[in-house]
Amino acid sequence: MIENPMPWPQGKRAAVSFSFDVDADSILRVAHPADATNRASTLSYLRYGPEVAVPRLCKLFEGYGLKATFFIPGWCAEEYPRMVERVAEGGHEIAHHGYLHEQPMLQSPDRERYWTERAMNALERRTGRRPVGYRAPYYAFSRVTADILAEMGFFYDSSLMADDVPYLIETPSGRRLVEIPVHWSVDDWAQYMNNFDLDYIMPIQPPRKAIEVYWADFDALYEWGGFLEFVWHPFISGRPARVKAIAGFIERVLEKGDVWIATSEEIARHARELIDRGAYRPRIDKLPYAEAKLD
Ligand code: ZN
Repeated sequence: MIENPMPWPQGKRAAVSFSFDVDADSILRVAHPADATNRASTLSYLRYGPEVAVPRLCKLFEGYGLKATFFIPGWCAEEYPRMVERVAEGGHEIAHHGYLHEQPMLQSPDRERYWTERAMNALERRTGRRPVGYRAPYYAFSRVTADILAEMGFFYDSSLMADDVPYLIETPSGRRLVEIPVHWSVDDWAQYMNNFDLDYIMPIQPPRKAIEVYWADFDALYEWGGFLEFVWHPFISGRPARVKAIAGFIERVLEKGDVWIATSEEIARHARELIDRGAYRPRIDKLPYAEAKLD
């Protein structure tokens, strides 16, 4: 069982947040900077996300009166302004997901700060609001990511995997962010990703199999009063058969009647409010985990 369960609003038993990483063709451009624009089929595969899948997914969630969280790279916000407007119109949360989906852990600290600020400015220009949440592209959180996020005033991160409920991460300067934990088991990448240009050659699972994997995690967290952050990608999960399966999944969650479904920001603010008034004592991870390589 979960040793330190977090109380949820209105006596709810468990909590979930549905999030979408709107990578679009940023991932191709960062993987193949010299010739991405010559790879038209993969470009079209990825552009399906902002152009077809995001409006469909917004409509799906709005039909249930739910809000989702969209982690959008700054470049994608600039390239697909109509998509950003559509997400904002539905009242969904827009959060930060790098600039061109560059991996923070492959950047120097100065370059990582540059890209993070550039994306922040792009998102703020498009939405009129500074995002408060961050997810590292490819979960590639570096030794200095927490420091950069804290300095820039982020409220939460959602890239790490060290608990079943929200917890705190603490930087060397003593600043703290709420961590909204993720896990590969509720990410759609391992179920459906298949693309030669991006070097993923994996068997595509039927939607019922993907849902079975997600549901197993949900079932346990529900019993134990935990939290799940679903991490799905519009270009992957926004296809018709997969959206139908997501609709069935949402309905089964709603049938439980006592699950708090909220945006990642709402979950983070709830956690912080409990912690600040002494109603919950979270686990605190000090970052970076190690100062130097062992030898
Ligand atoms: Zn991503």
